[in-house]
Amino acid sequence: MDEREKDSLEQEKQGAPAEGGEDEYEKVCYVCRRPESKAGPMITMPGNMHLCHDCMQKAFDSVTSGNLDWSKIQNMPYMNMNFSDLKNMNIPEMEIPKKQKIKKRSDEKKLDFELKDIPAPHVIKSRLDEYVIGQEKAKKVISVAVYNHYKRVYMAAKGEKQDVRIEKSNILMVGPTGSGKTYLVKTLAELLEVPLAIADATSLTEAGYIGDDIESVISKLLAAAGNDVTKAERGIVFIDEIDKIAKKKNMNTRDVSGESVQQELLKLLEGTKVEVPVGSNQKNALTPMETVNTDNILFICGGAFPDLEDIIKERLTRRSSIGFASDLKDRYDQDPDLLSKVTNEDLRAFGMIPEFLGRLPVTVTLQKLTKELLVTILKEPKNAILKQYVKLLELDEVRLEFEDGALEWIAEEALKRDTGARALRAIMEDFMLDIMYEIPKDPDIGSVIITRSYLEKKGGPLIEMRSGLLPHA
Ligand code: ADP
Repeated sequence: MDEREKDSLEQEKQGAPAEGGEDEYEKVCYVCRRPESKAGPMITMPGNMHLCHDCMQKAFDSVTSGNLDWSKIQNMPYMNMNFSDLKNMNIPEMEIPKKQKIKKRSDEKKLDFELKDIPAPHVIKSRLDEYVIGQEKAKKVISVAVYNHYKRVYMAAKGEKQDVRIEKSNILMVGPTGSGKTYLVKTLAELLEVPLAIADATSLTEAGYIGDDIESVISKLLAAAGNDVTKAERGIVFIDEIDKIAKKKNMNTRDVSGESVQQELLKLLEGTKVEVPVGSNQKNALTPMETVNTDNILFICGGAFPDLEDIIKERLTRRSSIGFASDLKDRYDQDPDLLSKVTNEDLRAFGMIPEFLGRLPVTVTLQKLTKELLVTILKEPKNAILKQYVKLLELDEVRLEFEDGALEWIAEEALKRDTGARALRAIMEDFMLDIMYEIPKDPDIGSVIITRSYLEKKGGPLIEMRSGLLPHA
């Protein structure tokens, strides 16, 4: 039996209905690749091959009209080839894509969650608190927005006629690099147990250009939901680096790509039906397509928006009473929370188009992390970096401690790099490498205390021996 036969047998097995139960995956037409939810009931052929009525009819028409024209059968691989081409083809190396499984849509009107299943804002916030340090206002705003979003999803799923239409509460997150934007969204998706797709706005392009087209975001979400369309339709999409698709200020250039990506995102954010390939981000004849409704998908866009603070400052000083402008400018220069004063007007001045901002009604700002917060991030969250190292050395029966001064040194170094909490792990890894290498050499070592002077390369760590012996170093 050759590889291909084995493969098809394997697929056949996978495709076989579960004993006693109905097969929960859709059949996909072998020719046009549409699933049965779109193409209607399938005719099953030997080898677990399925054909939709349209393709079957086209095949019959071509045969009965006497002139078999394969080009009428859409998407048939190799259809326009001559037999003479065959010898030039390296057939065994051609990849036949594995059958993609698409989970059947559950009845849209069927409710699989109750209102009481949606965690209340204070519950969401307290769960976020376990992982995300600081950013109190952002956590609060997000908790309420998410709660309202899922209430809206609940009402839609209930299918009752609504006298008041609740609008979507997509979120725009503004905050410096490494302040926890992605981390917040990831934690949120985990605690809500919904699928999450993270995309980078810089890789998104208009359809037809090199790069991922806008719909690839939904394709990713579908994959994260295990190809379960119903699940994907209640997921979260996070689009990072959204500030990079701002309209260019320099009007001499003809580059409008950022602006048109914003335009293309509009429909997705608002709610539309998109046709996406399953199991791939490339549309081609051999990948099955699925329709996903983005109406109940929560979109969160995030970006660092450099220079936005200057725009805010300029507006605030311009608005204030004439004559005191320079006084005010000084005051705003020192305001660490200036970003929280952002308005849509500032974002428009930055280059975001009004229609786009209109689809992101909730704006959340995150603060730059201070030294104190960075120290807390090192030691307090549930999966704090420090706790991870302590655990690793605990397995060697060695106690690891950090002096407060050492933690402050790490935070100060991180501040210098200006990448927020992102730098913490890299700094820790740098000096922990030696510790993790040296300690297991001597089974007599009972504890290690990392001191500030060790990190400043002025001394060694404090080492205590198990047997009360004097340390080597
Ligand atoms: P960005 O704001 O650039 O999206 P990230 O969310 O990717 O930053 O942060 C990078 C890493 O730094 C996270 O994986 C997380 O470990 C840590 N981190 C950042 N901010 C916080 C925070 N407020 N609390 C706890 N950890 C954080």
